[in-house]
Amino acid sequence: MKKIKVNENCISCGACTAICDEVFTFNDDMQAEAITNNNNFDKLNDSLKDKVMEALEGCPASAIEIVEEKCDCENCEGCK
Ligand code: SF4
Repeated sequence: MKKIKVNENCISCGACTAICDEVFTFNDDMQAEAITNNNNFDKLNDSLKDKVMEALEGCPASAIEIVEEKCDCENCEGCK
């Protein structure tokens, strides 16, 4: 699956959460992160995918990544 991640370069500017608060939020350390239930890029609808790509391309710190990741859950339906 393709997982949405925010790396340590995040400068907490808030652009991604403004563009797509369905996927991005701030954690307790005020670093952006992808919401756990919505961090599987492949499972997002087209509208959300577009917003994530807009946030990724607009991030001033290049902190948003979409990385291929092997799913390690045993009963997963959607990300094998
Ligand atoms: S747009 Fe980039 S730098 Fe700004 S809060 Fe989001 S991840 Fe962090």
